[in-house]
Amino acid sequence: MTHDFLQPLTGSFAQPAAENPTVVMIEAAYRQLGLNWRYLNCEVAPKRLGDAVRGARAMGWRGFNCSIPHKVAVIEHLDGLGPSAQIIGAVNTIVCRDDALIGENTDGKGFVKALQEVVDPRGKSVVLFGAGGAARAVAVELALAGAARFQVVNRGADRGQALVALLNENTPASAQHVAWRGTYRIPEDAEIVVNATSIGLYPDVDATLDLDFDTLRPEVVVADGIHNPPLTRLLQAAQARGCRTVDGLGMLVNQGVIGVEYWTGLSPDPQVMRDALLALKL
Ligand code: NDP
Repeated sequence: MTHDFLQPLTGSFAQPAAENPTVVMIEAAYRQLGLNWRYLNCEVAPKRLGDAVRGARAMGWRGFNCSIPHKVAVIEHLDGLGPSAQIIGAVNTIVCRDDALIGENTDGKGFVKALQEVVDPRGKSVVLFGAGGAARAVAVELALAGAARFQVVNRGADRGQALVALLNENTPASAQHVAWRGTYRIPEDAEIVVNATSIGLYPDVDATLDLDFDTLRPEVVVADGIHNPPLTRLLQAAQARGCRTVDGLGMLVNQGVIGVEYWTGLSPDPQVMRDALLALKL
């Protein structure tokens, strides 16, 4: 009988790494696909990032994720970027293709895939809260998926204006920055509302967006990037007003689905991955 004890390797480089649940959902996907692959959750300090990438190359890793604080810094160690990662200027998934390490960004792609299960963003008007890394990824992918108009509502003007310029210059969408001063009212033509700020993230679960929830009409689809807890105060308020909602677990699971597809060429069952995360009782 022949054996193959050489497991194809993937993983994650981040700091801190201990609270990152991605390993649980990716290894659940490998098991469901019947693959004898591994995903290693690695704590990598910024000054060791180059060594870590060289190590992954040397050991023939099939790919890896980069999380905080490496999403921009990793780019100089790669051989190329996918089209949307190039516009976003940040990478969270690296894929080994023909011996070259190519950087992709699946944060926004995962978000759009989760949203598309509820609403097609084509031609839609979007209110986007936030202008940080997650917001950039979500906005660029929404625009490339056909969203037509954006109001970028951000507290800091610099990041808000930078994101608006990025969208107007690199995508077919038109975008405006709104300085977030006091309670924001959702405009009547808004069709999709997205929280891409860190407001509501564990342990600050009672924090809410400074938003007049009564301006959420039932036709509006409300999405939250926060996955812990999955049912944020924003989503609770939206559901109470009859809105359809998309939670941050959908974004997390779908970016994992896309990563596994890039690495293995196979499509895992998103429900298996979501169940693996839910079993953690985040
Ligand atoms: P950044 O630090 O890059 O950006 C944070 C954003 O939140 C900024 O726009 C910031 O505004 C805004 N913000 C933070 N606190 C407040 C506040 N009190 N009032 C108003 N605005 C505020 O973080 P990321 O973009 O990387 O991540 C944001 C969130 O997205 C994270 O909490 C993470 O959980 C989530 N995320 C989820 C993923 C998933 O798969 N579900 C994937 C990636 C991220 P300002 O510019 O004014 O400071």
